[in-house]
Amino acid sequence: MASLLDLSDPAARKRLIAAMAERILAHANELTALDSAIGDGDHGHNMKRGFEAVVGALDALAAMEPPELLKALGMKLVSTVGGASGPLYGTLFMALGKAWPANLTRAEFAAAFEQAIAAVKARGKSEVGQKTMLDVLAPALQALRAGADAQAVAETARQAAEATAPLRATRGRASFLGERSIGHVDPGARSAALIIAALCEQGSQI
Ligand code: ADP
Ligand code: MG
Repeated sequence: MASLLDLSDPAARKRLIAAMAERILAHANELTALDSAIGDGDHGHNMKRGFEAVVGALDALAAMEPPELLKALGMKLVSTVGGASGPLYGTLFMALGKAWPANLTRAEFAAAFEQAIAAVKARGKSEVGQKTMLDVLAPALQALRAGADAQAVAETARQAAEATAPLRATRGRASFLGERSIGHVDPGARSAALIIAALCEQGSQI
């Protein structure tokens, strides 16, 4: 597990945070295009603004131990991303920090991740199947619990984002479109898959 999510020293923490940020910045236009189809076209811009702020605080964040780091990262995203996704990603990371296990095993990490997902559901009054980021987070957790290696977790997340296309959105801005939300990948599902892939690629030896 330590190699799946190696947060053991500042250099490792810096690599993980930078990898997430780089991935989001590299795909900002794609996220905006997805949100233009079924939302208001700001998801890429929102996430870019947030992760640029994270990069600006990279050294300070990397110096923190994981629980404090995750809480600070979450707060940074809440205050900079905006939209619906800012508070939801913020909640995800803050709750993960709060639930962070003293002894980082795969099972303990999965339990903390489950609590973080539960916090997003509570904040968003949302459930799996409504065409949101939860449709990627939940399958990623399932893959992790099933013993998938990092590459397989990332691939599960990627496919889960693709699998939001045939869903009809019943939460978030896309739900205003009703049937017309069908046939497009959910932008938040895609950004969640990008974040998971970036994290998984940093440690592939499990
Ligand atoms: P906004 O919808 O306010 O413009 P963004 O475009 O940044 O915010 O983010 C949209 C994404 O946020 C959606 O694609 C979806 O994945 C996610 N989202 C929106 N509402 C919810 C919710 N209630 N629960 C979970 N995720 C949500
Ligand atoms: Mg939007």
